[in-house]
Amino acid sequence: MSSENRTSVPNSLNEHWMPFTSNKDFKANPRLITEAKGVYLKTHHGKTQIDASSGLFCNPLGHGRREITEAVTKQLETLDYAQPFQQGFGGSFELATKISKHTPGDLNKMFFTICGSTAVETAIKIAVAYHRAKGHAERFRFVGRERGYHGMNIGCISVGGMVNNIKTFASVLMPGVQHIRHTHLPEHKFVSGQPETGDYLANDLETICQNFGGENIAACIVEPIAGSTGTLVPPKGYLQKLREICDKHGILLIFDEVITGWGRTGSKFGADEFGVTPDIMTMAKATTNGVVPMGVVACSDYIYDAVMDASPTGAVELFHGYTYSGIPVAVAAALAVQDIFEKDDIFNRAKNLAPYFQKGLFSLQDLESVDNIRGYGMMGGIDMKLNTKPGKAGYECFKACYEAGVNFKATGDCLIIAPQFICEEKHIDEIIEKLRTGITNYQKNQKN
Ligand code: PLP
Repeated sequence: MSSENRTSVPNSLNEHWMPFTSNKDFKANPRLITEAKGVYLKTHHGKTQIDASSGLFCNPLGHGRREITEAVTKQLETLDYAQPFQQGFGGSFELATKISKHTPGDLNKMFFTICGSTAVETAIKIAVAYHRAKGHAERFRFVGRERGYHGMNIGCISVGGMVNNIKTFASVLMPGVQHIRHTHLPEHKFVSGQPETGDYLANDLETICQNFGGENIAACIVEPIAGSTGTLVPPKGYLQKLREICDKHGILLIFDEVITGWGRTGSKFGADEFGVTPDIMTMAKATTNGVVPMGVVACSDYIYDAVMDASPTGAVELFHGYTYSGIPVAVAAALAVQDIFEKDDIFNRAKNLAPYFQKGLFSLQDLESVDNIRGYGMMGGIDMKLNTKPGKAGYECFKACYEAGVNFKATGDCLIIAPQFICEEKHIDEIIEKLRTGITNYQKNQKN
């Protein structure tokens, strides 16, 4: 097999330890993606599939965007790498300025990282550095939320709340982390949009403040909508309450917008959509349309200023950074993405398409094996009924849907659906129709 023609199964699958994959199952029956263009993928079986989750929420602008390819190619030809410590490259400053025009409030200072996980780790460290700079080293505690997903590094899983991601590593978690309850209540059945009930769950943060001393807590981190656990939408008023409690105790509020950022909710950021501005915000995935890894931490001016002011001129103010922080190739991709956002009016496109997608998504509720559906903007979660072992329904259903020609991510018993923003209504129809076929076939397999 030549390197340009990776369309068949390689001679050996043994040496690659695959991430978040049932390696044994996969290697017995591999699924390889060989090409991607627009909303479609091609498999090594030669079949075409529609991409119903924008990769892993990465590619809202569609696959194979010529503008991004050209920008990245040109950058590689001009400057392939520039080390980011004590020297720089103009593009990263240009990108930071562009992003600051979109971010709400005074979230005007951008720290570039490698991915979503490193953005979250960086946000945690910046929160600690800020409080130390203000003379409050006692603020080292963090509050996360059950069923939250913030990536895979030790800090990320410590504030995250997905049990399977934590169990094996419980002995090495970050100390001083408490979790508030997640926002999905039993009465939230087939709700598109924000649930009416449950804002009181934000008071869990107040309880933690009473138990541990609000003055000891550095930050509370949540996703505006929990994405990886299947679109857990905040109840009306919930995020506002979290903001109020943080303000009352001097706790920083961090929004992890790795999924909800760049239009997924129908607004640029979840913060805009729900009218709550955090102190720190993380982004990744769609920042480069998923084609080159990159994470961004947007910080409020006052956080940056406090850390700068605490150090003498000439000293490194924050002992933190990555070999690949804001490297030229990632920046080139992100700048091309910024141009497309503007040229194609992409956020309005997502907003206008969302009601059509939500209608289609909720049309699947008549299927026998569908237990619940949640949706917001251009994202949705379908919980499957447990006619198989808990935690396996999503994967089993994913396999049936893969055969039916629709590709998405499954987590536990949930199907995660997040179409690309370039979809037309006919593509949404195709996604829903193929989901219906795949889920129906899954139901039949379960009965046999
Ligand atoms: N934060 C959120 C909300 C995510 O959804 C993810 C990934 O899905 C991450 C962080 C981690 O991002 P990455 O996989 O790029 O490290």
